[in-house]
Amino acid sequence: MEVGRDFDLGLEGLPEADVEEVKRNVLFTSLDRLFSWARSNSLWPLTFGLACCAIEMMGTSAAHYDADRFGVFFRNSPRQADVMIVAGTVTKKMAPLLRRLYDQMAEPRWVIAMGSCATAGGPYINSYVVVKGVDQIVPVDVYIPGCPPSPVALIYGINRLQDKIRYEARRKGAEMLRG
Ligand code: SF4
Repeated sequence: MEVGRDFDLGLEGLPEADVEEVKRNVLFTSLDRLFSWARSNSLWPLTFGLACCAIEMMGTSAAHYDADRFGVFFRNSPRQADVMIVAGTVTKKMAPLLRRLYDQMAEPRWVIAMGSCATAGGPYINSYVVVKGVDQIVPVDVYIPGCPPSPVALIYGINRLQDKIRYEARRKGAEMLRG
């Protein structure tokens, strides 16, 4: 969020100490940026795992890695979730169900492809039953390489998604200002 010092606050004539106090305590921002800040700090992924990568995803929320500290709380209903972490191998049989879950999620929504299977088919790339990347079914925002990626890698991916959400709000604001 923008700190007040970038704006004309009409503080001329006030003692320097008062001016500094106001600048430390007054924040200006747009609603878009406020919403994106709130959303990026309360990402709620759908409880949804497809294969071995899902075990690492579960570990991310356990006590040692504690994804809760980033505001990440897994939800059991797609209607309450705004992030889909595709953790595992996506088969062609599963693909329409994955798409249905995505369609049931509230907007705005984001997708993280976790692991080489979700990203590009992984070790099963030559299998006739495996989708060669979940981006053929849903739009992907962040790709995390690895087989499997560690919980640390997933947390890094979540952090990048948070950055992306905030960046898009800033970009949208700048475009609106340019007209
Ligand atoms: S990327 Fe590796 S660990 Fe993850 S689902 Fe595929 S085979 Fe399993």
